[in-house]
Amino acid sequence: MTETPNSPALFLDRDGVINHDAGYIHRIADFRFIDGIFDLCATARDLNYKLVVVTNQSGIGRGYYTEEDFHQLTAWMREAFIAHDVPLDAVYYCPFHPDGIGQYRKTSQLRKPAPGMLLKARDELGIDLATSVLIGDKESDIEAAHNAKLPLAIRFSDKADIRSKADRIFSNHAQIAQFLTSFTKQQHSVCERDVRGH
Ligand SMILES: [Mg+2]
Repeated sequence: MTETPNSPALFLDRDGVINHDAGYIHRIADFRFIDGIFDLCATARDLNYKLVVVTNQSGIGRGYYTEEDFHQLTAWMREAFIAHDVPLDAVYYCPFHPDGIGQYRKTSQLRKPAPGMLLKARDELGIDLATSVLIGDKESDIEAAHNAKLPLAIRFSDKADIRSKADRIFSNHAQIAQFLTSFTKQQHSVCERDVRGH
């Protein structure tokens, strides 16, 4: 078996990063894409990042909607990414919550801020976490990135004065795309210097 080199991922939170977060979104009719998300994903793909969604879906665990509802919405969302020429490589979700009902009531390592979904992507897709990036709109996303030891966690927020442990805070996706480009080029030049032994 030949070893394939691991690729970096751009981990995307869903609600509040891909779509406007009106709270427990589970219907196609209520799902509104945030401006610039497809262009950002195109930039990331050009930079060789895999596109991986990591989303907490406690609405399932709380009984607000079903896994089937989630899968239907996800299938539709993935079609939209395909239509924009930026197919998603994977979508991971966590339906569990400590206040959930029935089988969903549990503390899960998949639920952000735990890094479980990122580790799963590493194992299943061959993601190199040491060169991967996460974009989230909540501090639990940023903590998940830190827990998985990602080198870059970006907080997407339209509030200028938020307190965050994120490495960077941006209020629009075009800015993130620009920053991701310079960050990635800088990382590559560091690697080349290491290889040459300088
Ligand atoms: Mg979110």
